[in-house]
Amino acid sequence: MRKRSTVFLLAIQVILFTSGHNAGARIRKGLRVYISVDMEGIAGVCASDQVSASGRDYHMARMWTTRETNAAIQGALDAGATEILVNDSHGSMRNIIAHELNPAARLITGSPKPLGMMQGIDRTFQAALFIGYHARAGSINGVLDHTYSSAAVYSIKINGLEVGESELNAILAGHFGVPVALVAGDREVCRQVKEMLGDQVLTVEVKEGIGRHAASTLVPAEAQKQIREKTREALENLHAMKPFQLSGPYTFEIDFLYSWQADAAELIPGVERTAPRSILYTQDDFLEGFRLFRALLVLARP
Ligand SMILES: [Zn+2]
Repeated sequence: MRKRSTVFLLAIQVILFTSGHNAGARIRKGLRVYISVDMEGIAGVCASDQVSASGRDYHMARMWTTRETNAAIQGALDAGATEILVNDSHGSMRNIIAHELNPAARLITGSPKPLGMMQGIDRTFQAALFIGYHARAGSINGVLDHTYSSAAVYSIKINGLEVGESELNAILAGHFGVPVALVAGDREVCRQVKEMLGDQVLTVEVKEGIGRHAASTLVPAEAQKQIREKTREALENLHAMKPFQLSGPYTFEIDFLYSWQADAAELIPGVERTAPRSILYTQDDFLEGFRLFRALLVLARP
């Protein structure tokens, strides 16, 4: 009796495994594209009031942001995408105008979210696209340069590599085996991502910084045209793209703007104070390291 039920259970497991396997294969047959959308790197944007909800020109800038996102969605559809997930990644993460977005995509909106700018990424995607991205804190001619929080972060290194949002989010995508196929933003962010990810990543330089608060920019319609074309080209060349993967353990070094922020951070077990404004910690699992980083930013909020 016992033997028979074991055989029965095994048969059930085989059926479940087989159907699960087939379901997985079916999902992977389509082209699934993930899009993370920030705002400082959108064409036409050069000042803080354009990217904060109380700002005078915010409504116009969120329309440009929505249209650049639609351009990437259209480029993905041109390349045969079967599923597209858009994650609003700026500030309150409620910037993209939902009713203006191409209905071929699904939208993640609002915050906080466990993976923040990369919420929703997983192993079922074949490519990640970054739209509206900007240079890391401390860049020259980087329009509205910062890294995650301009009120808290002076610099971040992971395993000795200085990272901004595009590199950090590329490591997150790489953790799930997903390559970053395209980055759109200012000239400096495009230079920085190519430096770390190599020439395989395609970029669209929608503007060139003339300092932090001025830019020579493509007009939105031209930026949108180039994003659509480059997205299609990037997705048609996915075979040449590899995920960006660092091997663990992962050491995060964070320099804050103020010493009180490091005072607060070192209250967490495992976080070591290395200088008046600096802390360091190491995690074997990258996602755990990233979660701790996010929690430290909450503690460091002015
Ligand atoms: Zn940002």
